[in-house]
Amino acid sequence: MAPIPDFPLIGGYLPTSFLDWEGKVAAVVFLTGCNFRCPFCHNAPLATGMAEGLKTEPVLSDILRRRRFLDGVVVSGGEPTLYRRLPELLTWFRDVAKIPVKLDTNGSRPDVLDRLLVGGLVEAVAMDIKAPWEKYADLAGTPVDTDQVRASLALLKPLGTFLELRTTFVPDLLSIEDLRRIRLQLEDDPRWIVQLFQPAHALDPALRDSPPPSRREIEASLEGVKVRG
Ligand code: SF4
Repeated sequence: MAPIPDFPLIGGYLPTSFLDWEGKVAAVVFLTGCNFRCPFCHNAPLATGMAEGLKTEPVLSDILRRRRFLDGVVVSGGEPTLYRRLPELLTWFRDVAKIPVKLDTNGSRPDVLDRLLVGGLVEAVAMDIKAPWEKYADLAGTPVDTDQVRASLALLKPLGTFLELRTTFVPDLLSIEDLRRIRLQLEDDPRWIVQLFQPAHALDPALRDSPPPSRREIEASLEGVKVRG
């Protein structure tokens, strides 16, 4: 077999996860760097590029060795679509490891997503919907061109059940009314999931002491919505 190429931006690796790809056993590869600064981010070292890089070879050879026991690989971040060599990495998963890939994205790079879909390099995608469009910059911690996020949404919608849309509910930054507005902007898409904010490792220290959100309040206020966490 050809030598494993070096992908220097791998900043984290979880050999086995039952949570990152619903219904599947997956390895998770985290890429460093993100163009957002969500105050609630729980992957701060990855988002800010401070995570210590991992050697590629042990990560990819571990996936190769265990691929019979894995349903797939989740490529997460940070924001993976920023990584210039993402197509090369995904091609390696498809053609060498022969393992399906799910991509996690903030949806800010529809041009990249389009290329990955056209190239048949991802099987499934989980895309964040941070906030109602008019509040996006507050939740992303930076100005966001929401037209790009909408374009990603339009591109990914045909994925059917291979698409997941997710919003992290941070009670200090979003209200139940905001969740209703997100649901409306997604036209009540059944693939939308509300994730409960985990305050402990939030990027913004001011949020770390926030009371955790109430699952019961969300379920009582938004009938039929899926809540995770
Ligand atoms: S939560 Fe926000 S800052 Fe953190 S990795 Fe995701 S998009 Fe980037």
